[in-house]
Amino acid sequence: MILLRRDPTGVWRFFWAKRAEATPFLGGYHAFLGGRRDPEDNHIPVRHATDAEHAAQCVCAAREVFEEAGVVLADGRLTDAETRLAARADLMAGRVTFAEICARFDLRIDARRFTPAGRWVTPAGVPRRYDTTFFISELDFQQEPRLWPEEMVDGNWMTPSEALDAWARGAIRLVPPTLHSVRSLLRWTAEGAARRADFERLSALFHDHPAARGEPPAFIELAPGIVTFPLRTPTLPPATHTNCYLVGDRDLIVIDPASPYPDEQTRLDAHLTQLADQSGARVREIWLTHHHPDHVGGVATLSRRWNAPVAAHPITAKLLDGQIPVARLLNDGDACELSAAALVAQGLVPATWPGWRLRAVFTPGHARGHLCFFEETTGTLFSGDMVVGLGSVLVDPDEGDMADYLDSLQRLLGLPMRAIAGGHGPALTAPRAVIESYIAHRRQREARIVAALRDGASTVPDLVATVYADTPPALHPLAARSVQAHLVKLMREGKARRRSDGRLELTDVA
Ligand SMILES: [Zn+2]
Repeated sequence: MILLRRDPTGVWRFFWAKRAEATPFLGGYHAFLGGRRDPEDNHIPVRHATDAEHAAQCVCAAREVFEEAGVVLADGRLTDAETRLAARADLMAGRVTFAEICARFDLRIDARRFTPAGRWVTPAGVPRRYDTTFFISELDFQQEPRLWPEEMVDGNWMTPSEALDAWARGAIRLVPPTLHSVRSLLRWTAEGAARRADFERLSALFHDHPAARGEPPAFIELAPGIVTFPLRTPTLPPATHTNCYLVGDRDLIVIDPASPYPDEQTRLDAHLTQLADQSGARVREIWLTHHHPDHVGGVATLSRRWNAPVAAHPITAKLLDGQIPVARLLNDGDACELSAAALVAQGLVPATWPGWRLRAVFTPGHARGHLCFFEETTGTLFSGDMVVGLGSVLVDPDEGDMADYLDSLQRLLGLPMRAIAGGHGPALTAPRAVIESYIAHRRQREARIVAALRDGASTVPDLVATVYADTPPALHPLAARSVQAHLVKLMREGKARRRSDGRLELTDVA
């Protein structure tokens, strides 16, 4: 529900709020009000709906806005603010249903009050599948949104340009439909239709995007000139995709063009071709986080197709020797600057916007040659497989090193990050909290391994059975690799050792 109102100076503003950081899905993102359909939504009458589905959508929209903001998008006798909020509290506490509130206060929901604003489904590679219908509705000054505090915070009436500026500065995070909505509102204002309060035109602008008609968006703009392009790859479950990233406007750095599948490579190529046709974009260089097959599957094809050199850490270059020619070695601190002249010229960022500065950060642990890339202007960390938005990071004793991994996580905490864009899953908006929880998790695992050794566990299977008792057995082979990685670290630190009979023990036992 995109609530709009014209402020006393004649400027249209929309209402949004921030999803609480602790919300498991898209916590920390700015979003409009709304939520999930309830079976009860099918049983409340709606005037002027085209069919039962449309009616239920309008009820859902009205109910969600009432629950989340305490405002009523219906005629009836619930006009007094105090009564309204008391009714909302009763609804939230489960003392009354929305249907009962509608009946008691004679609320009449009219579909004409809900202007269609598109239907979006979640892009590939996102753990939760959403199918969302958007509506626009004008809210008068008789009602002021009062957020129910659990899910949404910092409610705000914004102009589209204020919102886009905040997004360009990296101060806020938006998912594709929200960003498109703000841009549509800006177009509506710029072309003068807003002055006439032309909602029909606004609806048309909202629908002017393939993804607004139910086609999954192929890419996600995380910040100006920073695009996630998820590609299907042979990766570890629960992930099914690896995130390829594009940084820049005309000169592009492509990070981890991951997919070995021709259809996926074609999709990425079509997007790059479109950018080349529209704005003369070219692939300047391909940067690799590490050598794993689910990150480098499309590198050779893309490099040939765009005549773009590949850059990676010397260790990664060696590991890929014979498969992918690495033209430039990237070491810790190596950086690259990209001008934002094209975005500035298009008015998509303020003229003072400095462009991008991408810097390599050596982070061994998951892989020995692993690099993260830190984009300084937007504070975006491209974390590869060091930190991911979906699933967990495997530290395998042959490929990686647990002590290095923990040191690398610690190093990342020193960066002024605003978001983490990992190799898999959605971007994370609370970078420090995520990394701290990763470190805590590994330390806890190690403490449990030490405790199990103390209690007499003396083989890897013993340790897995004790330490990973709550993990499904199908994952135990992976868990065993992780236990091995912890043991290598403990042995190197002199805390554990292998006895002459091959069994494990702590060194401080007599
Ligand atoms: Zn990996």
